[in-house]
Amino acid sequence: MSREVWCIVEHRGGEVDNDSLQLFGAVHRLDGEAVAVVCGDEVAGLAEQISGECDRVISLSSSALASFTPDGYAQAIVPLALERQPSAILTLHSHFLGRDLAPVLASRLGTGLISDCIDVEWRAGFVGKRLVYRRKLIATQRSIVPGIQVATCQRGAFEAPESSGLDAAVEMLSVEIDVDAVRWKVGEFDEAEVVVGDITEADVIVAAGRGVGSKENLDSVQRLAKAIGGTLAASRPLVDHGWLSRGLQVGSSGKTVRPRLYLALGISGAIQHVVGMRDSDVIVAINKDPRAPIFEYADYGIVADLMEIIGPLTDEVEALRG
Ligand SMILES: Cc1cc2nc3c(=O)[nH]c(=O)nc-3n(C[C@H](O)[C@H](O)[C@H](O)COP(=O)(O)OP(=O)(O)OC[C@H]3O[C@@H](n4cnc5c(N)ncnc54)[C@H](O)[C@@H]3O)c2cc1C
Repeated sequence: MSREVWCIVEHRGGEVDNDSLQLFGAVHRLDGEAVAVVCGDEVAGLAEQISGECDRVISLSSSALASFTPDGYAQAIVPLALERQPSAILTLHSHFLGRDLAPVLASRLGTGLISDCIDVEWRAGFVGKRLVYRRKLIATQRSIVPGIQVATCQRGAFEAPESSGLDAAVEMLSVEIDVDAVRWKVGEFDEAEVVVGDITEADVIVAAGRGVGSKENLDSVQRLAKAIGGTLAASRPLVDHGWLSRGLQVGSSGKTVRPRLYLALGISGAIQHVVGMRDSDVIVAINKDPRAPIFEYADYGIVADLMEIIGPLTDEVEALRG
């Protein structure tokens, strides 16, 4: 068994999905060699894009891989994996590619699958940790099968390592795909509802909670977000009221975010919200209740009526930014 850990890199429209780079952070936890595996048609450019981020790149190309299918990708990956015996293969859990491909790989490699890992390590075998029971417990699962391990990793759970700036070796392989054995085809991709910004990519998030009081007051929150260069997000009640779109919801039934700055405005700090934002670098909370649980997670807390201070605060930020 080699030290190689294969990370299946996702891409669309000729661009690598940067979340895939987080898989290399998981490889660090496994003390392995991070090998990016890029499948597709004419993926040489993608392989180059990623070569500064990992130890090695394997590109597997065939015109039959132009669109992702679990069968097609598995046909490309499994024979090579059986030959080279990487210690593990990782995919991202959050995307349909990773979620659909990992079980097919595990089944064809005759191994198990630990899904949605927030941590991975070697400890008397391959160990994955995952949140269970609505994220109230962390389950530690150990694979009891020898050989290649397969796991999916939760988006945001691992940090993409700093780019080395060095170009890793890129191995370009053409693969034969038996198209008759591919059991489904991709139809069309329709763009989903456009949200104000992708909150999982945002560096600065201004999140509104029920404490904003009304839909109209969101204008002030939006003005602050604009002044500070942040992306608007929300706790679930605002989404349930239909004030903001579902794509902006942070929390256990929304998205997990890790911005540099998270501004929580009128958010109480319920655990279902906190699990989605507690790994932010700096958390600032504004709440009129000094006992609000959000202050336990905040680096800076302001006890105040939000609607009284949001205007002057925004003016101050605008003045500072010129
Ligand atoms: C299965 C399940 C999944 C869930 N998933 C999510 C999820 O993904 N995301 C999520 O957010 N929630 C989720 N929830 C809901 C969660 O339990 C909380 O109900 C929710 O997070 C509360 O939102 P909030 O903090 O905005 O509102 P509240 O809990 O009502 O808090 C409002 C806060 O605003 C403060 N406030 C009021 N007025 C002002 C003012 N003028 N100035 C300053 N502060 C003020 C109050 O002191 C209070 O602390 C989920 C619940 C369940 C059961």
